[in-house]
Amino acid sequence: MPMIKEVKDMDKIRQFGNQMQYRMAQFMYGRNGFDTLARTCNGIAIFLLVINLFAQSRIVYLLWLVFFSYACFRVYSRNISKRYAENQKFLNMTEVPRRYVKLFKLQWHDRKVSRYYICKNCHQQIRVPKGKGRIEIRCPKCSERFIKKT
Ligand SMILES: [Zn+2]
Repeated sequence: MPMIKEVKDMDKIRQFGNQMQYRMAQFMYGRNGFDTLARTCNGIAIFLLVINLFAQSRIVYLLWLVFFSYACFRVYSRNISKRYAENQKFLNMTEVPRRYVKLFKLQWHDRKVSRYYICKNCHQQIRVPKGKGRIEIRCPKCSERFIKKT
């Protein structure tokens, strides 16, 4: 009966998967998990790892170790309130660059229909339809005017 055996094997694999998931959830219970700061450090670590495929430098390796360890430390940390405060501080400190990253992503996603600008005065994000030539844009928040080619 090969069919039945196969089904049983599949059941076993599924059971094993569920068990692993359950154990993982149990392990992560009461721990910080991936917050923005941990995700950023992890991203930097992966970037350094790729760089070091080519550079093979000890300094890059050490940097990778620092970012990777710190990301792990954050994810598995049990001091959630302290990690939360650090993450908030990080979010406040990086508010402007993160806004630009978000803007670039949006800009890429809507590249055929819209253009996005950030007001130099108040950092408000402004969306303008594409292909209107040179136009004067007025910031809806602070009324600052600037000329852009769309
Ligand atoms: Zn403005």
